[in-house]
Amino acid sequence: MSLDPKRTVAELKELRELTGNADGAQRVAWTDTWLKSRAWLLDKLSDLPVQQHYDAAGNNWITLQGESPRSLLLGGHLDSVPNGGWLDGSLGVLASLEVLRRFATEFKGRPPTTIRVVDWADEEGARFGRSLFGSSAFAGTHSIAADRVRRDKDGLTMEEALKRCRIDIQAIGDSAVERTNAAAYLELHIEQGPVLERMGLPLAVVLGTKGVERHAFTFFGQEAHSGSTPMNARRDALAAAAKLALEIRTIAGKHPEAVCTMGSVKTFPGIVTAVVGRCEATLDQRDLDPAVLASMYREACEVSKRFAAEEGCTVEEAHIWSIEPIPFHPALIKLAEETIVELAGTAPKLPSGPLHDAAEVARLGIPTVMLFVQSLKGISHNKIEDTTPEHIEMSVAALDRLATKTMQWILQETER
Ligand SMILES: [Zn+2]
Repeated sequence: MSLDPKRTVAELKELRELTGNADGAQRVAWTDTWLKSRAWLLDKLSDLPVQQHYDAAGNNWITLQGESPRSLLLGGHLDSVPNGGWLDGSLGVLASLEVLRRFATEFKGRPPTTIRVVDWADEEGARFGRSLFGSSAFAGTHSIAADRVRRDKDGLTMEEALKRCRIDIQAIGDSAVERTNAAAYLELHIEQGPVLERMGLPLAVVLGTKGVERHAFTFFGQEAHSGSTPMNARRDALAAAAKLALEIRTIAGKHPEAVCTMGSVKTFPGIVTAVVGRCEATLDQRDLDPAVLASMYREACEVSKRFAAEEGCTVEEAHIWSIEPIPFHPALIKLAEETIVELAGTAPKLPSGPLHDAAEVARLGIPTVMLFVQSLKGISHNKIEDTTPEHIEMSVAALDRLATKTMQWILQETER
């Protein structure tokens, strides 16, 4: 059984058939459909010389024992957002499985290093608003106190939902035991953006995940009657926020890879006959360079104050969430680059805007790298998410080749 990337495409379609509907993928973590996708994956293991178990946080580990206990980890996530795409996360899991099959055959069930495929639990955070659940438990960056009281839209707590999937939230930190002997982690994922399609290239090396600064900017003006208040007497909080919404293009535009998004704007009283007295806007800023991230945030604060003053308003800023940029491992970036050059001729290097489980693994100091494969139209988290079969197959071959190179690298590192 040599590598068969066409089988990965067929299995992805099988999974789509089993766990999707007319609106897209429905493998939301901690739901019956998600459990069904996991049971389906277990069925795929019956002929393989592997051990399988779920860890304390619900991550699924499939282990092919090697001569050395030092382990090469390959991963992804079967969970999806509601009405999601067929490739986000599941490509990583099924490509990893295909690579594991190839190692099992080539080395007659015992490769030089141990190979472990991991299907991380609840990468998307779609139901409880907590992304990277399983990988952060693995990494020890989780917070049980914060997570247990999270509720879904029906009011069910995360603690209860996990219990239904036989996970005790109190114990999820025990997932850390899976770090033992982890020597490297590789993750293949769709790009989820338009960059590779625009370049006309199939694959990219991912340099790391961008850091995120997420803040709320609330502008305070004066609620007033829309008929009786002259234009020059207004203190319009929306006008100040609107200036910020446009200025973030300039702020981001000073840096080649930076992005800034005002994703939510709420106005109060929010009626057609009143000047906006209060406007709550959110700002999400991302870059791979911590210095760029810090300066963009500073700039956003400065211009908000200026725009507030120009409109006779005041502004308050509140921290929502942030994470530092997480660079991937230089030696593995080099191997990934070699791999892509061999298969596709050119290896662009991109930062990842979205976070991935790989970021949690890399944060721990486990050498990590990701590969991106082109997304058609750059669309993801949507039923129209797609990648050509040729590119999917090439991406499986790339992961396979990179896995071989990484295994050799692990063996060399172990000898040192
Ligand atoms: Zn994903």
